[in-house]
Amino acid sequence: MKEDLLQDPVFGMAAEQFDRVADFLGLEQRVRERCKWPKRLITVSLPVTMDDGRTEVFFGYRVQHHLSRGPVKGGLRFHPSVKLGEVAALAMWMNWKCALMGLPYGGGKGGIACDPRAMSMGEQERLTRRFAQEIGQFIGPEVDVMAPDVGTTAQHMAWILDTYSTREGRFVPEVITGKPVELQGSEGRTQATGHGVAFLATRALNKLGLPVLGASAVVQGFGNVGSYAVETMSGYGMHVRGVSDLSGAIWNKAGIDALDLRAHVAKTGGVAGFPDAEAIDPDEMLEQECDILVPAAMERVITEKNAGNLKCRILAEAANGPTTPEADSIIEERGDIFLIPDVLCNAGGVTVSYFEWVQNLQRFSWTKLEVLAKLETKLNEAFENLMDFCEERKCGHRLGALATGIDLVARVKKTRGLFP
Ligand code: NAD
Repeated sequence: MKEDLLQDPVFGMAAEQFDRVADFLGLEQRVRERCKWPKRLITVSLPVTMDDGRTEVFFGYRVQHHLSRGPVKGGLRFHPSVKLGEVAALAMWMNWKCALMGLPYGGGKGGIACDPRAMSMGEQERLTRRFAQEIGQFIGPEVDVMAPDVGTTAQHMAWILDTYSTREGRFVPEVITGKPVELQGSEGRTQATGHGVAFLATRALNKLGLPVLGASAVVQGFGNVGSYAVETMSGYGMHVRGVSDLSGAIWNKAGIDALDLRAHVAKTGGVAGFPDAEAIDPDEMLEQECDILVPAAMERVITEKNAGNLKCRILAEAANGPTTPEADSIIEERGDIFLIPDVLCNAGGVTVSYFEWVQNLQRFSWTKLEVLAKLETKLNEAFENLMDFCEERKCGHRLGALATGIDLVARVKKTRGLFP
């Protein structure tokens, strides 16, 4: 199994990062081995009746990296390229993120290899419900709490909530986060990740002594994270010059109006053809001059091919794992880019998911303002702690962020001891 996982390029990348940090921390072999490998790798087959009457079998995965500090927490992804190794890597990163943010969770991740864009809502509902049924015995409010990720939304979470609650014979909102507000989802959860990315970008600008007002940004991806990052940055008075998604990339040096773009995407399905901007090659867009570059789509998009050509001051990693280790080395060597590493940059989502879970367990709710204020406090604390850690230990931001998370998990494992 170890070799199978290491064959996957995304897991290979996560494992390489882990090894580097474990060396840096001087982790002893006994703890290191336990921290590195996932606790549970669950694969389920999902037969679904398609609209044309065929039965198609999909494969779904859930990886629970460790349960030493509480239930696992992490998203559920619908994408054609989903593989067990990729899901295991994303689960591993969730561990360090939850520990870095001081949330009482281990890391988890799930995914189904499917193309939701080619499926009707009915097909997606049947697939989601079948997954919730098959995985039902392995999840629960104290075991594994899922949330949306690429290709899934609050609606998918509502179907999981309904299936799980029907199974249990009672309403269990705390089994899932990122659900609609009327089903006890949290105010502020939809925009939390993008809001956090934009907020942290302002903290990085402050550290560099650059003004927030008029700062320029380029964003890859205009889904949940990218669109709210664009909206919040625009709200702060920044100019988002370029935005891309699967439909193409658009450019306007004077800034793209976030709300008009959202309306255009709702109507046409993508950013391409937005009337107030010109088309640009999506790869070239990443290399344009800007203060903040925000990859908010998929993994491994900043590579050794483009890392040397980036012309941003800040790289705000909204997506998980957008930078390959080779690109990382180039960026570190250049020394002119302020990195906000993914485990911190996109932690707004899991932090507000945690707030949602806490509100559900208490049967109590906070307003959007309260939620976003609490989120900013937590992100600011983690950001400042990271700056202090990197200063003290003379290390880069990615190493510092991962080291903070891994160190906490390692200490917990050591203190709990090994059973039997
Ligand atoms: P999403 O499905 O809502 O949006 C993904 C966006 O990326 C879409 O606009 C899609 O068109 C675009 N995209 C996909 N491939 C692309 C490519 N090759 N080039 C340009 N654009 C491309 O997903 P999301 O929830 O916004 O997640 C985006 C990233 O953020 C993922 O890495 C996810 O793991 C991470 N993330 C999400 C959350 C969350 O709360 N949703 C939290 C933490 C991290």
